[in-house]
Amino acid sequence: MSAAQFRPSDAVDFLVIGAGAAGGVMAKELSSAGFRVVVLEQGPWRHEKDFAHDEISVMYRSGLTNDFRKQPNTFRKTPAEPAKLQPAVEYGRMVGGGSVHFTSNYWRFHPEDFHERSTLGAVPGADLRDWPINYDELEPYYTKAEWELGISGLGGSNPFDGPRSKPYPLPPMPVKSSGVLFERAAKKLGLHPFPAPVAVLSQPYRGRAACIHCGFCESFGCEVGAKSSTLAALIPSAVQTGRCEIRPNAYVRKIEVGKDGRVRGATYFDSRGREVFQRAKVVVVSANGAETPRLLLMSKSAAFPQGLANSHGQVGKYLMFDTGALAVGLFDHPLNEYKSIVVTRVLHDYYRSDPKRGFYGGGGLDSRFDYYPAGFVLDGMPRDIPQWGSQWKRAIGEYYTHMGGVLAHASCLAVEQNSISLDDHVKDAWGLPALRVTFKNHPDDMKAVQFLADRQKEILEAAGARKIWLDQATLEEITYSRHLMGTCRMGDDARTSVVNRSNRAHDVPNLFLVDGSSLVTCGRQQPTETIQALAYRAADYIQQAAKRGEI
Ligand SMILES: Cc1cc2nc3c(=O)[nH]c(=O)nc-3n(C[C@H](O)[C@H](O)[C@H](O)COP(=O)(O)OP(=O)(O)OC[C@H]3O[C@@H](n4cnc5c(N)ncnc54)[C@H](O)[C@@H]3O)c2cc1C
Ligand code: SF4
Repeated sequence: MSAAQFRPSDAVDFLVIGAGAAGGVMAKELSSAGFRVVVLEQGPWRHEKDFAHDEISVMYRSGLTNDFRKQPNTFRKTPAEPAKLQPAVEYGRMVGGGSVHFTSNYWRFHPEDFHERSTLGAVPGADLRDWPINYDELEPYYTKAEWELGISGLGGSNPFDGPRSKPYPLPPMPVKSSGVLFERAAKKLGLHPFPAPVAVLSQPYRGRAACIHCGFCESFGCEVGAKSSTLAALIPSAVQTGRCEIRPNAYVRKIEVGKDGRVRGATYFDSRGREVFQRAKVVVVSANGAETPRLLLMSKSAAFPQGLANSHGQVGKYLMFDTGALAVGLFDHPLNEYKSIVVTRVLHDYYRSDPKRGFYGGGGLDSRFDYYPAGFVLDGMPRDIPQWGSQWKRAIGEYYTHMGGVLAHASCLAVEQNSISLDDHVKDAWGLPALRVTFKNHPDDMKAVQFLADRQKEILEAAGARKIWLDQATLEEITYSRHLMGTCRMGDDARTSVVNRSNRAHDVPNLFLVDGSSLVTCGRQQPTETIQALAYRAADYIQQAAKRGEI
């Protein structure tokens, strides 16, 4: 089947904006169901051969991510402060989005994540809410995501997980040294470590190759297609339907609205900077928790003078960021952690919020080492060792091979003033208003971080580390995030949410927002499995509603 090509004047059935973790799911599901789909992605369409182990390009020159020099953002902690030019959000900017370069931790939310407000009560200074759906409604879609994408793990090994209808399709990845030490230590402390569920193929699956343990995994694209990104696992099948056109280098600046208040397509800049209007019957925005609200706010019209789908001023609010400190241990024996994937063992014993602790929140912990050579030398060494000369050189060799870390993935409360808005002064390279981030952690977030940091140190001690330190920067309030959640949240009440329980905008019947923006709470980070499960669920609903003529 040859790839589809539509003209901008063709009113296709669905226009999907953003080909990332959720957008890739929508592309595959809607085109497989027989609909004509155009996907507009601002970044390029890369292939396995394009992914190289080039640390300078990937880590320091935004080779795969949003480039702050072209798409700057500003940051302030509170609305009272002037916003400063300062990188605050990072995401994969290419076909596949964040799923191409993510660390691949693939966690389901726990059943209690969906109704924490009812069980724990209100948290002063935050807007903790129940989801309008529960775990049981999402479970079939968690399973679908795991089997469609190819996830490795051991079902039933995490005693705190909700029930599952099927095991993982693939066995866990081989355990690394850090995982062995973490597991042994955690068991000594009476905890319940388990093999990390990851979006990586431990064995060949559906024509894709297994992981070759190259070691350049987090932040990098996979050169053998073993990372279960939408680029590797879903986009090729979407294209093969002959009904899905992926249009890369198409940066959408506005979603257009007709006189009837329905959306009718979107205007984008193509690779040569020309403006193109693509018509569509339905628009699905999957541009992530930062860019989706920005695009809605840029899409002002007579019908929506405050921005699209924003009649109650909810778009952009309740931004949640990834929070949690890193503890590191130096061991007597070499760990050689620079090989393979980043994480092989996890524990969720401290996940649940326990009122006895005196604050809201908790987190999951994983064993890891996520430094590459240049980054390690510049930023990974503890500060109490010589910083130059032959002693420094010797220390680099020792620390790089003998270090292992424990990272916390902690709760982050939804706070109204934490938000994405449009900057009044700064513009991007296309002349569009820059993204303005307002974010300050709730005090309970920081109490959870400190509580978990103490637990992380205990594990490293029990693992026999001869020296333990905390990365001080990670103990501070967060000013930069890679997990972008909650800015167009889901709910039954149009006054306090942007989309309904099926990801349909309350204000606009033929507009769907399907990505990290719809999350009501952030679980304990690692949101991608929930984002993709929600996408499968929304796609199911949309197909049925479209076939009934209800869109
Ligand atoms: C280094 C790193 C490691 C991570 N590790 C993990 C992990 O281990 N586990 C986990 O769960 N999560 C992880 N994440 C987060 C994960 O990548 C995101 O949660 C996930 O990709 C979000 O999915 P999404 O569909 O909301 O958006 P994305 O995947 O970000 O997709 C959005 C897409 O929309 C495109 N887009 C945006 N605006 C426009 C526009 N105006 N026009 C056209 N296209 C547009 C973007 O270029 C992008 O391709 C990590 C992130 C990073 C950066
Ligand atoms: S470690 Fe494995 S999954 Fe990760 S990039 Fe390398 S080969 Fe791909």
